[in-house]
Amino acid sequence: MALADISRVEIEKAIEECDRLGRDAFLKAYRFRRARRYVLVHGGGQYDSKAIVGAAHGFLPGERPLTPDTPGFSGGAQHAARLLGRLGFVVVEDPGASDPGVSGPAHEEPIHEEPTHDELIHRVTHLKVNRSAGQPALYKPIVLLWAMGRALRGEPRLLPWSETEEAVKALLARHGRKGQRLRPDYPIASLHHEDVWELRDFTGPVTTAHGDSGVKRWFSENQPRGGLVEPLHELFRHSAVTRLAVLDDLLDTFFEDLDPAPLLADVGLDDGDPADPHPAPARAPEQWLLTAAEYERGSRLVEETEARNRGRRRARTALGPVRSRAARHLVLGRSQGRCENPDCTGQPADVTDRNHPILEVDHVIGLAEGGRDHPVQMVALCPNCHAVKTRGRTREALRDVLLRVARERHEASGGRHAEAPGTSG
Ligand SMILES: [Zn+2]
Repeated sequence: MALADISRVEIEKAIEECDRLGRDAFLKAYRFRRARRYVLVHGGGQYDSKAIVGAAHGFLPGERPLTPDTPGFSGGAQHAARLLGRLGFVVVEDPGASDPGVSGPAHEEPIHEEPTHDELIHRVTHLKVNRSAGQPALYKPIVLLWAMGRALRGEPRLLPWSETEEAVKALLARHGRKGQRLRPDYPIASLHHEDVWELRDFTGPVTTAHGDSGVKRWFSENQPRGGLVEPLHELFRHSAVTRLAVLDDLLDTFFEDLDPAPLLADVGLDDGDPADPHPAPARAPEQWLLTAAEYERGSRLVEETEARNRGRRRARTALGPVRSRAARHLVLGRSQGRCENPDCTGQPADVTDRNHPILEVDHVIGLAEGGRDHPVQMVALCPNCHAVKTRGRTREALRDVLLRVARERHEASGGRHAEAPGTSG
């Protein structure tokens, strides 16, 4: 946590976002309840102190928003109020809700150094893997994708070794490269040493043996329970854009020459209908809400992928162009389910089987023409507007309008003014 780094700038961003989303949706997005005691009064409005500080934390570079159960923040309503006071904001104590039993010094919990969001992402986007004949081994990416699917479905994070072994073996048998052995123990020991995988219920140190039999024996003797480290599991579970950005990265890095669709279907991260890219389960309407901090972070992850892929020859052209799932998700979230063409004459009122609005995500300038795979140049269009944009006589004029709209909506949603890396513009 970096509470001390929060300034008026981040607080004002959080207040702005609360105004934009509305109080209830804002609290829901950040998983807070209404403040019982400390109310921030600003510009004629009333805000929940702790939720505003929690959200503001997410606007710090490289930090995540704090949730009510973040260690060190869980008892901190008074702490948040004091911080707001120090920054010159007005916090009133709601007398109707005062509780004489809570006077005195604030209850401070020990503050743990939690890895930042960016540190967690870095761990999984910079895996060390063996290569043979120039091809990266798929052990670790397969284990991660499997765990990511389980997090998405809200399944228990930790599993007995026997279940992990069986599930990962089956996936390696179906999707590993030719010549890879069916060995879940080796990648999991390695992920553990990279702080990605937690192991429990064993005695003595976790094996670092490089010998074949040593690692396998350690797991069969200790039978550790294990799973993704908790903050990663939570991140994959609750942040769709992070999950998709990591998925983009893993597929770009490890599956460049392969069709990942069968594996994604097997682990439950299937794209399904390309115009309907949200993985099952269907999202409730409020999950379309994308907080500004999430939007900003998501855009940043998309930019990192763009920078990495710049100049790299894409071997996957035979399988169709690689497109950023995270970018598509950001555009759909930003659209709040409505066609982004300001002159739209009517979007179908129906929804898809997954309860999603009927929208297509369009690259305003095609990728083949040098357009960017980034929300700043992408729009969500209804099928009518999409057809006009593709084939209509007014398509040139519409394209100019949509480019402006894409940029405006990108910036209004929390995206930074982002120029393409190293392009002539
Ligand atoms: Zn439309």
